[in-house]
Amino acid sequence: MGAAPVRVRFAPSPTGFLHVGGARTALFNWLFARHNGGTFVLRVEDTDSTRYSDEYVDAIYRALRWLELDWDEGPDVGGPFGPYRQRERVELHRAAAKELLARNAVYECFCGPKKMDERSEEPDDESDPESAPAAERSGECTCASLTPRMREELIGQGVRPALRMRVDPLRAVVVDDIVRGRVEFPAGTIGDFVIVKSDGGPLYNFAAVVDDHAMQITHVIRGEEHLANTPKQLLIYEALGWQPPRFAHIPIILNEQRRKLSKRDGATFVNEYEALGYLPEALVNFLVLLGWSPGGNRELMTRAEMVRDFTIEGVVKHPAIFDHAKLAWMNKEYLKQLPPDELARRVIELLEQRTPVPDRIDADHVARVVGLLQERAYTVAEIADQGAYFFTRGPIEPAPEALAKYCASPEAVARLREVREALSAASSDGFTPEAVEKAIRGLAERTALKAAAFIHPLRVAVTGQAVSPGIFEVCAILGRDVTLARIDALLERLQRPHAVGAEQSV
Ligand code: GLU
Repeated sequence: MGAAPVRVRFAPSPTGFLHVGGARTALFNWLFARHNGGTFVLRVEDTDSTRYSDEYVDAIYRALRWLELDWDEGPDVGGPFGPYRQRERVELHRAAAKELLARNAVYECFCGPKKMDERSEEPDDESDPESAPAAERSGECTCASLTPRMREELIGQGVRPALRMRVDPLRAVVVDDIVRGRVEFPAGTIGDFVIVKSDGGPLYNFAAVVDDHAMQITHVIRGEEHLANTPKQLLIYEALGWQPPRFAHIPIILNEQRRKLSKRDGATFVNEYEALGYLPEALVNFLVLLGWSPGGNRELMTRAEMVRDFTIEGVVKHPAIFDHAKLAWMNKEYLKQLPPDELARRVIELLEQRTPVPDRIDADHVARVVGLLQERAYTVAEIADQGAYFFTRGPIEPAPEALAKYCASPEAVARLREVREALSAASSDGFTPEAVEKAIRGLAERTALKAAAFIHPLRVAVTGQAVSPGIFEVCAILGRDVTLARIDALLERLQRPHAVGAEQSV
């Protein structure tokens, strides 16, 4: 008998944007499916309508698409067991609850939502072990021993029961986890837990089991913070006589201080990285190493290599540390490898989202700019920001420090005038880096001054900054007209009363 084809799922609760921890869980599932020629299912766990929002559902789809974690079954794709919005599957949950009642594996609990542990059992945040459900208070509930008459009475009064699993406190539940090995939970610490609320709504542990079974999930790969849920889920499988999937709990992600990753550590949601101009392929490469290693010192890997080499056996038990500096380094490496045309396309995409959209973002021009900035940049956004002076024909606002440093003296004004004159001699067509350089060097020779005396104020004029890539290339890319117009604008500004250093320059 051959093993069943691999079927895994990513089951996010749409209560927020996709967290990097969730993205890592999705990635591990996706890789496991692709490595094994299996199926990757997306199931949106939206039964708790008080906590989810459609905005977050869309944000999760968007983030997964951006990371190119395509799902084979689920929203938009269908599948043999669909649909995969959990709230559309209540009939299935109801039938399983009925079956559990018929098997006497659950009992009705009339304690009411306040007294009882009806709240959702999911951790709010995948990376937060603390938010995992506390031991439930089934000890307070005596509904297991209600007589039929008492039950009739309560029903007569209109009290609606929740359903609670009967758990033998003397037994133990063993989770045989692929990553963590054998973990034993004394059932006394689990207690009789609620699976269906008094309003009929299924709770996470129950709905997840029913759906995982119906979708023929073979492996449940999820964050370690769910380990405490697994014995409950195993009890439900057992009570229904269903074969459970294999479980693999992947290590928690911590910050560099080995504490829960929080907002203070920087971006924690996938969409934030997108907005910051990170490359999805770099983020994926970074995430794959959070708890998994391909062996050796390999770090930079293509997607194909990840698919080829990924195994659950390679997942480690110890916490994964989210090292922002490493992510930045990795992004820089990916950025360097990107063909300039492709990088230009991404810069343009980012610039097009800005308001107002800059007026100089045609592909050829942006590709030339990218050629100049690609080596040094850490993110796409950095190119868009640091190169802002390239993407407009209009005037720029020089940085006060740059003005103070290089344009405060009367000499600077004189040098700038000389630069203007020398550069205006060149034609627009001949405005190459070499031509600009020749003009400046010629000036330096004629005046017996250092070229820097001309370059510094010129740089402030055309870039607005005290530092920039090679100024001759910068001027050539900007073109003759824009270069001269910016020099004129700075000259005009420096001669205005109250300009930087104006008291000396008159
Ligand atoms: N909806 C749960 C979560 O987002 C799914 C956990 C699981 O994979 O079973 O944490």
